Amino acid sequence: MGTQTMVKEFQLFINGEWTPASGGETFDIINPATSEVSAKAAKATAEDVDRAVESARKAFESGIWSNKKPEERALILQNFAKKIVEKAPEIIYLEAISSGGTIRKLSNADIAQLVLCLQQTAKSALEYKYAESLPIVTALGPSRNQIVREPIGVVAAITPWNFPLVLAMWKIAPALMMGNSIVVKPASYTPLGTLKLAELALEAGVPPGVFNVITGPGSTVGERLVTHKEVDKVAFTGSTEVGRKIMKLASDTVKKVTLELGGKAPAIVLPDADLDLAIPGILFGVFFHSGQVCESGTRLLVHESIYDEVIDRLVEASKRIKVGDPMDFATGMGPVVSEQQMNTILNYIESGIQEGARLVCGGKRATENGLEKGYFIEPTIFADVKNDMKIAQEEIFGPVLSVIRFSTEEEAIEIANDTIYGLSAGIWTRDVVKANQMAGKLKAGTVWINDWHMFRMDAPFGGYKQSGVGRELGMNVLDEYTEVKHIHTALSNEVEHRTAFRLLF
Ligand code: NAP
Ligand code: MG
Repeated sequence: MGTQTMVKEFQLFINGEWTPASGGETFDIINPATSEVSAKAAKATAEDVDRAVESARKAFESGIWSNKKPEERALILQNFAKKIVEKAPEIIYLEAISSGGTIRKLSNADIAQLVLCLQQTAKSALEYKYAESLPIVTALGPSRNQIVREPIGVVAAITPWNFPLVLAMWKIAPALMMGNSIVVKPASYTPLGTLKLAELALEAGVPPGVFNVITGPGSTVGERLVTHKEVDKVAFTGSTEVGRKIMKLASDTVKKVTLELGGKAPAIVLPDADLDLAIPGILFGVFFHSGQVCESGTRLLVHESIYDEVIDRLVEASKRIKVGDPMDFATGMGPVVSEQQMNTILNYIESGIQEGARLVCGGKRATENGLEKGYFIEPTIFADVKNDMKIAQEEIFGPVLSVIRFSTEEEAIEIANDTIYGLSAGIWTRDVVKANQMAGKLKAGTVWINDWHMFRMDAPFGGYKQSGVGRELGMNVLDEYTEVKHIHTALSNEVEHRTAFRLLF
């Protein structure tokens, strides 16, 4: 027998308590930088799902959270943000050993986003109109008419592995702020940090049962959640394929659904682009987090007049990206999340070669300097891509850039919109007036001009076309977590004044 290192076992978080799965089973969490088992998580059963939903329902109906004043809930969210800052090193560690995200990204981008999301949600909720009175109209007789916003009830959140915490928080923060209870099912590669969030929320003052986390396979745990009759809303981020399925499954009980799905974002480079800015910007746009970002700029549309120069400079600049150990602050690009994801990406690279695209950079697994055990892929660039190739149409979710040539702006817009997706798009040019005109023609939920990956917590994010339904962040997201009620109060008691009754009598 070889030596065995003890790995920590994580349980389910239901009704404010750690609890093992009822079937007693666990599954392995793999560190994608080393391919070693880094932890174990409880494999929830259908019974566990039911328990989590029941505890969320019970907490909701009790009013312990749903009837609190928004100001009180906002304070608790602020507290939650403070707890995250205090525990940041542990959270970063749990994320790194499961997602393979670099500690450089996790400590700078992810933790900041979690805190900002909670703070912005608390702030915008205080400006939110929970109740408003309508002006009096005489047609219906004297009446007082109010529009009130109420929590929906029990929210099920199903989240992906690429930004496990940030994308969970985009759902947790508004759900809690508006008074709902929530059950989160994180991706099976990366459940650890989300479990920690639930514990911190409890410590911050979110009552037991309001925020539950259950771990286990999407095909069983996930499906049970999205079909459960006591779940009122499903918030999902992940692949378009699973998104379609969830929409169908949720339809039997007519749940409210928000979906944040895939992307194949076009980045358009006009002839007058400032290439000193655009070259690093394009690479940041596609290779950040090893390309595992739904809004990455994966299709680069370059004007023919600068095409060769752009390709040469992208290849040159790609050599400056350090692929390596995510635990090293100097690393710019860590591994991809899993062996399966690595193989998917390598298959896409093979298909690019088969379909006749010109591989100008990378294209292989990175195995030098101790990386051979992990799932590392070189920054990869294909030139001479045609937009109907698989590598231009399908979401690869890895460090692969497809470069396409265009001659006119009309053609660029046409190619940009020739996709089932519509999550994001970008334009690199010195002419920002023109860029704004072009932005109006791009069918995408976010357009970046001379930038990429820029999120504001007060700006909505979401997809056109098959990239999703609804929006996260911004003021809009608060509507997505509330029901609307109209209360009409008649202000006349005399039956002879109630002319509408005469339609019957
Ligand atoms: P996925 O299958 O869409 O998984 C996302 C989440 O849905 C996970 O929590 C998953 O659980 C769960 N799930 C899977 N099947 C389900 C079902 N039938 N019912 C309910 N929940 C279900 O994504 P993936 O397999 O991790 O990655 C596949 C591809 O999705 C990637 O290559 C990429 O193209 C895309 N993706 C997009 C985003 C995005 O932000 N738009 C994020 C991640 C991935 P399990 O983890 O237990 O399967
Ligand atoms: Mg999947």
